[in-house]
Amino acid sequence: KKHVGIVCVQGAFIEHKHALDALGCTCIEIRNRSDITSDIDALVLPGGESTAQSRLLHDLRLFDTLKERIEQGMPTLATCAGLILLAKTIDGTGDLQGLNESAANKRLAVEGFQTLNVCVQRNAYGRQLSSFHTQLYCARAGRELPATFIRAPRITSCGAHVEVLMQYNESAVAVQQDNQIACTFHPELDSDLFFHKTLISL
Ligand code: GLN
Repeated sequence: KKHVGIVCVQGAFIEHKHALDALGCTCIEIRNRSDITSDIDALVLPGGESTAQSRLLHDLRLFDTLKERIEQGMPTLATCAGLILLAKTIDGTGDLQGLNESAANKRLAVEGFQTLNVCVQRNAYGRQLSSFHTQLYCARAGRELPATFIRAPRITSCGAHVEVLMQYNESAVAVQQDNQIACTFHPELDSDLFFHKTLISL
């Protein structure tokens, strides 16, 4: 039985637990450093608010241990804000464009893991009302997969070793780099468990 650690400091983590429970995994909810046990086989970084998540990961002193695990190759599935936390570069102010620069920079301070070789723009499709649902073809899956975008980031460029698994309007929306899989949308909100199955297979 696989043990999957789900980072549960903020955001849409419970849906990931439901998906992984359905696949017969044992889920470990990570809220404290002592939750990151040695029997964890894989990690999930859920969607939510990347600024809040980044702050909490540092305040709760989870950040260094998680970064170490990811760098050591622990299979990791990151969705939306989780992808922002993995991204090497975070670009632009997204929905904070109305704020003056120093206020925007302060609220923007996402100090992420920088382990995934992509550049990402936060809130690239606009505010909550611009959230949308669609179906996108995934060659690896051999079929269309549902994709729910909620205040989603946009991957503006992919670097070395990044394989594009799905695209929307010519931007990568699902990528894999070694053991890191990341989506700008929320696969945990739809019933197709392709990404959770892929995580377990790693
Ligand atoms: N807009 C959020 C952020 O920038 C991400 C939204 C999500 O995870 N659904 O962190």
